[in-house]
Amino acid sequence: MKTVSISIFILTLIVFAITSLSSEELHKNISQSEKLLSLFKNSKELPNIIILGKPGAGKSTLSKKLCRQYNYVHLSIGDIHRNECRSKTMIGLKIQKNGKNKDFFNEEMIQITRELLDKRFDEIYQNNQRFILDNFPTDLKYLPYMQEVIDRYQLKNRIILIVPEVTDITAKKRVFSRTICSNMSCNQVYSLDNKKFSSKKPGICNQCGYKLIQRLDDKGENWLNIEKLWKEKMFTYEKSILPVIKHLIKSKKVETFIILPSSTLFSNNNR
Ligand SMILES: [Zn+2]
Repeated sequence: MKTVSISIFILTLIVFAITSLSSEELHKNISQSEKLLSLFKNSKELPNIIILGKPGAGKSTLSKKLCRQYNYVHLSIGDIHRNECRSKTMIGLKIQKNGKNKDFFNEEMIQITRELLDKRFDEIYQNNQRFILDNFPTDLKYLPYMQEVIDRYQLKNRIILIVPEVTDITAKKRVFSRTICSNMSCNQVYSLDNKKFSSKKPGICNQCGYKLIQRLDDKGENWLNIEKLWKEKMFTYEKSILPVIKHLIKSKKVETFIILPSSTLFSNNNR
């Protein structure tokens, strides 16, 4: 059942690719999609996954989908940070302070993030589970830590990178129309713009009944400065995250799958 479902999902990707890509891109992406599919089909042991990409590329939705189908543990450092902030823990206050200054990669933040992730990696290792690291590492400064994790838990050759691609127009639309469940153990993402991804009852989570809220970092001040906010998000992506993707591909530390375009990831909606 799981294989059928993931097959449909990958096939949809391929079909979409045929209709929208140049032939060079097309061949590259078909072979990548097929390879990714075979990994889920044939592998005795599923790989751990890093998902990186533009804001609005569908990282979180793809992560949650794979988690449901293959029992991965979802590690979203964004969610972990936000939950600390909302719980007003000591760590949360420090994260908030650094967030206000848009200083996400200083010594303090790196240390906080290491501690938060270490705890979770230990649990995953002890329970013999696998993880999806959703939007991490987000800066080259985190790569030494990532290498430590790979060495500590012997993850070499047991971890892959998936990069969902998306056009800027679609990504922007998604980012500014998304709402998120306020239940910290749920964090399901919905769309205000796309009916297929909106909640059944307006403002209420389908899964747990909690209220839906908009992420502060998606909202801007009274929606007046969406352009500015988008530029900031893309600046962070190009300055911090893209170099990590390029480094991981070049260093061949992880096997990489770039899947285009991620809008098709949403075609098999089973929320
Ligand atoms: Zn919920």
